[in-house]
Amino acid sequence: MLQTEKLYEGKAKILYSTDDPEVLLTVYKDDATAFNAQKKGQIKGKGELNCQITAALYEWLGAVGIPTHYIDCPQPNQMRVKAVTIVPVEVVVRNIAAGSLCRQTGLPEGKVLPNPLVEYYYKNDELGDPLLTRDRIFLLDLVTPQRLAEIENLAQQINKNLQIFFDRCDITLVDFKLEFGIDSQEKLLLADEISPDTCRLWDQKEIDPQAKVMDKDRFRKDLGEVELAYQKVQQRVLAQLKK
Ligand code: C5P
Repeated sequence: MLQTEKLYEGKAKILYSTDDPEVLLTVYKDDATAFNAQKKGQIKGKGELNCQITAALYEWLGAVGIPTHYIDCPQPNQMRVKAVTIVPVEVVVRNIAAGSLCRQTGLPEGKVLPNPLVEYYYKNDELGDPLLTRDRIFLLDLVTPQRLAEIENLAQQINKNLQIFFDRCDITLVDFKLEFGIDSQEKLLLADEISPDTCRLWDQKEIDPQAKVMDKDRFRKDLGEVELAYQKVQQRVLAQLKK
């Protein structure tokens, strides 16, 4: 497979076309950004770690019937994916209050939510990815009501299955962000990555509120040992997948 044209370079990944129009190549980078790219840095080895973690989670989700864009990894930091048109709505699922939910509502961090909360954000860097309402989604014609229902249903199923998987890794899935794409057959597929960059993951083996953080909050809040935390996630996820 030939890597041909660079189609897009994002904050954490580069997307290339290949000799097959139905297949794209994603190269995961070590670059780290936070707060809509106002904070920038590098996490050594992050590209490989996030690519391997995402691949493992996609294998698990694929095995339980979730349609994803994942094909395989030709290199540790490269992923072949099915070509899709990305839906410009980021879906955040929350099981425990943290981050912007606490800042915007006053809920205490760590409060277990009675039901998983599914939220939608406009995928638009210039506007700072604002929180959307259902009516705003339809006003902007970002997706049809039928597609949104399909997305919400899939997001709930993904959450249930990821919670089971992470729990077996002694990791609590606090919240995470998903992206979806539509393929050439108009089928909805889970796309992008699922990694410590896009999830909040708390180590069940730690009690200390800072020591338990295994995700990008270590970078956002300057907690240190970011790379080590991502490595721990990778080790536990890969070990669990082999079981
Ligand atoms: O910042 P906030 O609390 O809304 O983030 C919720 C979850 O979504 C976190 O796990 C965060 O890492 C993820 N997220 C993301 N990309 C964004 C916004 C949030 O991966 N653009």
